[in-house]
Amino acid sequence: MDKYWRFETAAVHAGYEPSESQTSVAPPIYQTAAFAFNDAQHAVDLFDGRESGPIYSRIANPTVQMLEARVATLEQGVGATAVASGQAALACAFLTLTEAGSNIVSASSLYGTTYNLLGHLLPQYGIKARFADSNDLNQFQALVDGDTRAVFCETIANPAGDVADIEALANLAHERGVPLIVDNTVATPYLCQPLSHGADIVVHSLTKYMGGHGAALGGAVVDGGKFPWDDHPRKFSRLTAPDDSHHQTSFTQTYGHRAYIARCASVPLRNLGAVMAPATAISIMQGIETLALRMERICFNATLIAGFLQQHPCAEWVRYAGLPNYHNAELVKKYLNGQGSGVLSFGIKGGASAGAKFQDALRLIRRSVNLGDCKTLACHPASTTHRQLSDEGLAKSGVTDDLIRLSIGIEHVDDLLSDLDQALAGSQR
Ligand SMILES: *Cc1c(COP(=O)(O)O)cnc(C)c1O
Repeated sequence: MDKYWRFETAAVHAGYEPSESQTSVAPPIYQTAAFAFNDAQHAVDLFDGRESGPIYSRIANPTVQMLEARVATLEQGVGATAVASGQAALACAFLTLTEAGSNIVSASSLYGTTYNLLGHLLPQYGIKARFADSNDLNQFQALVDGDTRAVFCETIANPAGDVADIEALANLAHERGVPLIVDNTVATPYLCQPLSHGADIVVHSLTKYMGGHGAALGGAVVDGGKFPWDDHPRKFSRLTAPDDSHHQTSFTQTYGHRAYIARCASVPLRNLGAVMAPATAISIMQGIETLALRMERICFNATLIAGFLQQHPCAEWVRYAGLPNYHNAELVKKYLNGQGSGVLSFGIKGGASAGAKFQDALRLIRRSVNLGDCKTLACHPASTTHRQLSDEGLAKSGVTDDLIRLSIGIEHVDDLLSDLDQALAGSQR
């Protein structure tokens, strides 16, 4: 990889060289479950790690590795692991560092399923989550203790829209000897590279903007390679001490600055098996090729639509990170170059029942809970993505009854504006 490549160039080329596979310009799909050993000694050398090469596609697949290299390059990490979905990536990211009795200090404004993973599933196995108000650094500070294994936030929280002060959270975490994990799904590395602001690990749902086509699910964990695990051997003994399930080797000794991502791939992922299929990796790599172009158009469309909604009598409030009056405008300027990505939400006049009429009146915009697609999508989180949450959970994740979330796509903005205008009129009938 040429380290002087700019983002747009790396998005098209990183992770693959035609000379590696019969000069094929498009990366090839290694559609195989397993790989054959040349002889008995070859097998032994592969299993002992003396030689590198694929063994079985749950452990590693060359096509998936191409995607991993591309994502790691775009996030400026030392390595990445691609998995079956964004949720699998979050689960693997947390399980790499935690055990019963430990905790994660997380922003409370989160994607609904992530909130459930941290607040409900992991606690059943003794891993606690402690939620802090996303805009209150003191709360994060107060919640970190000796059993904390990481601080966690989303760059742009979905759907409440809070933007994380990554540098401040990273400093706070590092002072207490723990890493900062950031879910960068909504911002994408085109708008923000959390590792360059001090974060240690980045997680993605590749299903969203990275793929961009809404045709495949995927996730990735990216390791920044800078966190000093060996300075905190009691807390991070899973990385620093010999591992029973891994040839009695210590990950930091064997893999150095890639220790975290090595354990992520060879323990949580290898044991839980939430791997990405090779054909999916290609589909997502193709999507990433156009990430920069799509994000430019999406931010442009979203800014015009947010402005239109601000003027509209049926929208009681509008929240979009790209608006100058945004509650986190300073942070948007610092971390996102003033751009707000494609998720915006607004409060519809008339609450939940007007929201239902609005959805039914849409003609072009699709009713869907996905985001980051080329197609513009609308959803009502309180009755869909956040439906499993209690009233308290809803309030904590910033979801009100009247909240309509739009994920803006790359269509012509005038077609989107006229559909919104007629559906807003329909919502009040
Ligand atoms: C969609 C999403 C996820 C979950 O990703 P899946 O690919 O659907 O499993 C996690 N975090 C954020 C911010 C998301 O938008």
